Amino acid sequence: KTLLNIEDLHSRVEDKDILKGIDLKVNRGEVHVIMGPNGAGKSTLGNILAGHPKHEYVGGRIELDGRDITQLSADGRAKEGIFLSFQYPEEIPGLTVEEFLRTAKGAVTEKRQSYMEFRRELHSRMEDLHMDRSYASRYLNVGFSGGEKKKTEILQLATLDPKLAILDETDSGLDVDAIRVVYEGVKKLRNENNAFIIITHYNKVLEYLEPDFVHVLHQGKIVKSGGIEVANEIEKQGYKGIKEEN
Ligand code: ADP
Ligand code: MG
Ligand code: MG
Repeated sequence: KTLLNIEDLHSRVEDKDILKGIDLKVNRGEVHVIMGPNGAGKSTLGNILAGHPKHEYVGGRIELDGRDITQLSADGRAKEGIFLSFQYPEEIPGLTVEEFLRTAKGAVTEKRQSYMEFRRELHSRMEDLHMDRSYASRYLNVGFSGGEKKKTEILQLATLDPKLAILDETDSGLDVDAIRVVYEGVKKLRNENNAFIIITHYNKVLEYLEPDFVHVLHQGKIVKSGGIEVANEIEKQGYKGIKEEN
């Protein structure tokens, strides 16, 4: 039932120690929220899990589905079912949302995606997410509102259907409607076989999802874990107490 098992993970970037012993276990079907002050190492954790080459692995273990993936490339991890949301998607004129998603799906599954079959699947996913079909033929991110960019991310998530999805501040700088797109999307995609790690500064997430765990990262360590009460406490008191205790 364990999907992700992280033991004593240490990492470095440009000779600076960032993650200083992370232990985290994520079971299938669970949603974990990670909070923490700026610079705590939250994005680093997401990047390390996704195999971003900028972050140097120093020690510890990352297992996905019982398999040690510490030495696997970013590509290899995507194929094993790890998805990391991009924080700031780029504009790509000339590439439609549909083409982008078909290519991404082909890369992850290592199977050429048939045009018509892919389109049918895409339309059915768009229907599930209440998205207009015409959206798939727009150029990627060109002239997209914040909410539309998020729709693309959620649609990408639905298309790739990863085992483990990590959303890094996907809700930052969004209005309430766009936030709803993100979290209602996650709610629909959540199932017994996958798991989500949601990095956020806001407890807006609690309105849409019932996370199983909330963790607080501070100076490269998980300093607190609990249920939604942890997020509510932070909303009320900020990180003051956490910084003082540690
Ligand atoms: P958070 O997402 O919690 O705000 P980050 O993981 O982005 O924190 O950053 C943790 C620490 O690592 C910060 O001190 C940040 O400056 C440093 N860091 C992250 N990425 C890089 C990088 N590519 N080059 C240099 N330092 C980095
Ligand atoms: Mg940051
Ligand atoms: Mg960050």
